[in-house]
Amino acid sequence: MAHADLAASTEQALGGAPRKQQLIERLTAELPADIVLHADEDLRPFECDGLSAYRQVPMIVVLPSTIAQVQTTMRICHANDVPVVARGAGTGLSGGALPLDDGVLLSLAKFNRILDIDTDNRRATVQPGVRNLAISEAVSHLGLYYAPDPSSQIACSIGGNVAENSGGVHCLKYGLTTHNIVQIEIVTVEGERLTIGSSALDSPGFDLLALMTGSEGLLGVIVEVTVKLLAKPELARVALVAFDDVRKAGDAVAAIIQAGIVPAGLEMLDNPAIVATEEFVHAGYPKDAAAILLCEVDGTEAEVEEDIERVREVVEREGATEVRISRDDAERALFWAGRKAAFPAMGRISPDYYCMDGTIPRKALAEVLIGIGELSEEYGQRVANVFHAGDGNLHPLILYDANQEGELERTEAFGGAICRLCLEHGGSITGEHGVGVEKIDQMCVQFPSAELTQFHAVKEAFDPKGLLNPGKAVPTLHRCAEFGAMHVHNGELPHPELERL
Ligand SMILES: Cc1cc2nc3c(=O)[nH]c(=O)nc-3n(C[C@H](O)[C@H](O)[C@H](O)COP(=O)(O)OP(=O)(O)OC[C@H]3O[C@@H](n4cnc5c(N)ncnc54)[C@H](O)[C@@H]3O)c2cc1C
Repeated sequence: MAHADLAASTEQALGGAPRKQQLIERLTAELPADIVLHADEDLRPFECDGLSAYRQVPMIVVLPSTIAQVQTTMRICHANDVPVVARGAGTGLSGGALPLDDGVLLSLAKFNRILDIDTDNRRATVQPGVRNLAISEAVSHLGLYYAPDPSSQIACSIGGNVAENSGGVHCLKYGLTTHNIVQIEIVTVEGERLTIGSSALDSPGFDLLALMTGSEGLLGVIVEVTVKLLAKPELARVALVAFDDVRKAGDAVAAIIQAGIVPAGLEMLDNPAIVATEEFVHAGYPKDAAAILLCEVDGTEAEVEEDIERVREVVEREGATEVRISRDDAERALFWAGRKAAFPAMGRISPDYYCMDGTIPRKALAEVLIGIGELSEEYGQRVANVFHAGDGNLHPLILYDANQEGELERTEAFGGAICRLCLEHGGSITGEHGVGVEKIDQMCVQFPSAELTQFHAVKEAFDPKGLLNPGKAVPTLHRCAEFGAMHVHNGELPHPELERL
């Protein structure tokens, strides 16, 4: 059901205005009054996530602390046709947790307990609001850690990580969130509890765990997550490699992988990102380099020594101007400190930045980076690149000033052009930040209507009324027609009845 239709039916189900007051009464009849927020000053802190260009004050915020309270909230909202947006830590960069003015924002912030650490099976079961880094901190004394490490790991929640299938520096070797979880519990739109996946290696039936991972709050509310824990590697070292040409740095990434080395992390910063980061963190990055790579290898001491020398050989052959290998853990942490602080560093050189997220085959890195540079000139806007080069996962940061009229619109158009560039090189419009509201129109460019129709069929199976996070992630065919991006099949446009604008 389209969101506009939904608003009309919500009105009806609650018997007309004032709808908000009626919903408050129905929620507080079954939930503690202090977890149902409705005053403007209480709602305003929830008006945006990490994509702050989009803002919307929610109608009501519910802050449950038990699964039973989540079930009650979902049951009441479902019965009254009220849409629900789940929210973890609100660090998402695609507006997935943007509230709705006629909906409930369901915050999982109070679900912050680690429930079980199973060292025999190397598993931890945690509540969805637990911060990503808190999992590794809780098991560090056991020599264990949780591998996926988004740069936002100090703040983002594991529930948000599952909903976005988040990645990070170490995902090149150890996989994304989807490869590092074994079981979740969800509450369905009707308020039922479901266990998905299992602690066994494989489960029969459709792989619903994979389906839920990256579902951006459209299929259910995640209320518990069981993650895999890994043994901390004996040793890790990072090579900081400088280049005088972005093309050489891009080609070196492909060459490292081609040589059969599997780095634990392989990241790249271009000159604008290097300069901003170095002036902020003083990590020792060479400010005159056109690009740097940070290449980490880990394993036993013998493996690390062998791999790091192979990395040195490859990058020197590819034209590196400088190679520095971390001498100890303190220097390794310093090299990474720059990378991890690269996004905040942009805040020092620009009032606003727009973080794009696209994926391309590694061999296209150099071409696409050059293409982004050309687009930057065409749109007259600065851009800094800092990204997971080993995964081919780009993060062009477009610098802009939201207070200047038209700059946000120009930035979004620039972002759209970057998405198209990624697709032209065989890539995808998103790597790890999800679609949310930000990329919803680009979904029409990436997917044919037949595939979008299948996405809608999956959504309908979980959420027939379309109440979970409506208007995000999967565009309606009508929206694609309005965007002018319907795919032409055999010379015929699908849905000729829809108006093309
Ligand atoms: C500085 C910075 C650096 C970042 N670096 C990375 C990076 O390296 N890699 C990366 O992948 N991402 C990165 N991100 C993006 C973001 O941190 C991730 O997408 C993260 O997983 C979002 O988690 P969250 O708890 O903040 O989720 P939110 O922003 O609250 O929500 C994100 C989406 O998940 C849904 N959701 C949240 N919790 C639940 C739940 N319990 N049940 C169902 N749906 C839910 C929401 O509805 C929304 O659609 C970065 C963000 C910032 C600000």
